Amino acid sequence: MPNNIILDNEDSWDKDELDIFKSYDYRCALCNDKAIVLHEIIFKSHAIGTWKRAGNRVPLCNSCHEKAHSRASKQIRIKLLEIAKNKYGNN
Ligand SMILES: [Zn+2]
Ligand SMILES: [Zn+2]
Repeated sequence: MPNNIILDNEDSWDKDELDIFKSYDYRCALCNDKAIVLHEIIFKSHAIGTWKRAGNRVPLCNSCHEKAHSRASKQIRIKLLEIAKNKYGNN
């Protein structure tokens, strides 16, 4: 199965989460590498009740995920919001 990326830990995600991975072809939304986590663009603590919706969660690879939680996170968040918006609309 060439180019068919499969999650290492598929069992640890629920169906909604797997759907998000799938809609990004299991790739990092920023660099196209293999995704390993779902990152919440707006952190749980700031989006109670809505953090789980698809438009707020994007698959990222490890290194982009680290960046998303680093000092450069503001730019990354803006970029991710745009990517998610293009994919899911204003949900
Ligand atoms: Zn990445
Ligand atoms: Zn994260």
